Amino acid sequence: MSEVVIQCKYIISGEECNKIIKNGSIIIEDNKIINVGKIDEMKKYVTGHDKIERMNHVAIPAFINAHTHLPETLLRGICDSSKLIEWLYDYVWPFESHMTAEDAYYGASLGALELIESGVAGFIDQYFFVESIEKVVKESKLRALLCPSLFDGTPETGSIEDTWNHIKKFLHSRNNIIKEKDSLLKYGIGPHAPYTVPKEYLLKVSEIAEKYNIPIHIHISETEKEVSDFRKQHQLTPLEYLENLSLLKNKILAAHCVYPSGRDYEIMKKYKVTVLHNPQSNLKLSSGIAPVFKYIEKNIDVVVGTDGNASNNNLDVLEEVRTAALLQKFLAKDPTVLQNYTALKIGTTAGSKIFGLEKAGIIENAIADITLFSLSGAHSWPQNDIISNVLYSASSGDVNDLIVNGKFLYLNREHQTLNKERIIEKSTKIAERILCEMRK
Ligand SMILES: [Zn+2]
Repeated sequence: MSEVVIQCKYIISGEECNKIIKNGSIIIEDNKIINVGKIDEMKKYVTGHDKIERMNHVAIPAFINAHTHLPETLLRGICDSSKLIEWLYDYVWPFESHMTAEDAYYGASLGALELIESGVAGFIDQYFFVESIEKVVKESKLRALLCPSLFDGTPETGSIEDTWNHIKKFLHSRNNIIKEKDSLLKYGIGPHAPYTVPKEYLLKVSEIAEKYNIPIHIHISETEKEVSDFRKQHQLTPLEYLENLSLLKNKILAAHCVYPSGRDYEIMKKYKVTVLHNPQSNLKLSSGIAPVFKYIEKNIDVVVGTDGNASNNNLDVLEEVRTAALLQKFLAKDPTVLQNYTALKIGTTAGSKIFGLEKAGIIENAIADITLFSLSGAHSWPQNDIISNVLYSASSGDVNDLIVNGKFLYLNREHQTLNKERIIEKSTKIAERILCEMRK
């Protein structure tokens, strides 16, 4: 049994990320936080615990990256100046057509290194080569919700029919893990978008999601053109269309939602759709700014993701929540929207709820997913408001440690589960090879 006490200068605690404990201890036994409080008050609970001193650090609930395509690390920087459709058809899909399962494994491993170094405990993924990503999750000991991607023409399985059959078999073979409540690995299903997946397959997706009680992770209303084309063709918004197909009886994780129209707000609220907000990717592809402050006003759940590295180009959730906060203040023309603790919450505790755990990502009696930031940089002083320091002054380069499910994956900036040198060497060679093949 592992028993650890971490002493910190500050602890940001509570589901709303608005409680601050100065000079605090976090007591962890196995994978759970048993007690949190002032160092003096916690002394009576500390017996043979290993002591980790972080008295120039702040502990926060670990980040969750709520929307990504992890092996896309291999595509980092291949196209920084295209609109979504050209970017997808001229760069991303041609690159991916050369990928193998082993390539995806190393791409995802590089992504896992990056997540860990950025203090991210878990990620929600939508990609093909799901077995390769799953292997990385097991090795890295990160938390993940893996949603195998469904569309026509994946490099792994080709036609949508073959991809569908592969997904069906895969989910069936993971049925036991799906039933495990506390597993680090969770599964969903990822139809790419209502405009790329035909109706008959969306209906099959709905059926299988209901059968296994798993979420549907789908891109929704990412660009203005996509929504207007869709409305012309179907006389419905993408969400109204999914409602008509009865897909919304399942848990929907809707990436982007930049252009809600028609009855979309009402639908999101009625069916408890969770919006996966990716502000930097939406800016980079000139897609737009999702009206997150309105979603929050209407009590629609919002969590933050980075999207894949091809459109971001990093997996840094802290950067993303900061961008989200700045953009919403601009969009609402009101600096009071997205208060500091709310911005932190949509990058941390709100995301951890999607993993279906009773309590995780909160620094109180809960499963221990914790990120520790060093306060040694000049930009961390003075500490007039520690939540403000984390949100607006810190950088992911300050991340000193990451604990997931009670275990250190990153300890004093050293990886505990992955071989960084080897992964960087392998993934760099793979990217070079694919770019060379694309030019032929
Ligand atoms: Zn995406």
